[in-house]
Amino acid sequence: MERIVEIEKIAFEGEFEKSLRPSSFDEYIGQEKIKKNLQVFIQAATKRSECLDHVLFFGPPGLGKTTLAYIISNEMRSNIKITAAPMIEKSGDLAAILTNLQENDILFIDEIHRLSPAIEEILYPAMEDFRLDIIIGSGPAAQTIKIDLPRFTLIGATTRAGMISSPLRDRFGMHFRLQFYTKEELSNIIVCASKKLDKLCLEDASFEMARRSRGTPRIALRLLKRIRDFADVENEDHISKVRAEYGLNELGVNDLGFDELDLHYLELLLRAKGRPLGLSTIAAALSEDEGTIEDVIEPYLLANGYIERTARGRLATPKTYELFKLGPPPLQTGLFNE
Ligand code: ADP
Repeated sequence: MERIVEIEKIAFEGEFEKSLRPSSFDEYIGQEKIKKNLQVFIQAATKRSECLDHVLFFGPPGLGKTTLAYIISNEMRSNIKITAAPMIEKSGDLAAILTNLQENDILFIDEIHRLSPAIEEILYPAMEDFRLDIIIGSGPAAQTIKIDLPRFTLIGATTRAGMISSPLRDRFGMHFRLQFYTKEELSNIIVCASKKLDKLCLEDASFEMARRSRGTPRIALRLLKRIRDFADVENEDHISKVRAEYGLNELGVNDLGFDELDLHYLELLLRAKGRPLGLSTIAAALSEDEGTIEDVIEPYLLANGYIERTARGRLATPKTYELFKLGPPPLQTGLFNE
């Protein structure tokens, strides 16, 4: 089943996304605190003619972590090399990447929580002392060769703050947690993107899409792309509220931006009647892996107060009962009567 609010990058047409990627802080909407801090640190590093300290971004997929890495490279006027942890399988892969860097380059590693411990070990001296320690041979005859690396900035991105090892986390000088976007910010992102696509989206139409974007720019842009198709077919030179509402209904996007997986998830919790459900139970019932549930489905539901995560499992909140027009939640079984 295709998810219209799918957040994974692979499912999203790369060229379309690339063409809409903001290239400067001015074009990057929202995340004001992060932008402000980054601008100061970039300015300071540039003034001292140093490279920027290593940066770590946390946050659910599609919120703009890769985009920020590109913007940093533009602002620092540095080259950027992009890779993802699953692509670095052997220590030699990382050694090759590091030795190919030039002075002041930026290395972006997506999904950095997925690096194996052996690869992380190589990264530590590279991040701290810009040095590569290569071990040749094994046992008592093993020798370590040290190779100097150019000074570079590592930008790591992760959807799982909890899964990154603390020695790795501590080696990043800056940590930033990206937040879900407000409807106003998403509406703004949609209007700006529609201008780039030469198909102006009117403000009330962009709001309709923003409401249903799960707080995520990638979803907002994906909806814009689909709604643009509806407007094109009707030979309309802009995107109106009527067309947006029509298209969104045709696409089956729920009023709150929930897709079927979100709805199944919530229904499962409601059916448990106040009994907390564990992650593995939910994953089995939805035939999804636990990672997708934790990274993709839950952050938005948690941030908006639809679910609660307790030590004993996940619970639907009164807001969810209200949403499904059910009475108040049953007394939590786990709290008193056990
Ligand atoms: P992540 O790396 O967090 O998964 P991306 O940086 O790839 O997310 O962002 C997904 C898309 O959303 C990008 O193509 C970009 O065009 C758009 N986007 C993300 N954040 C913003 C923003 N703050 N302003 C405008 N567009 C954004």
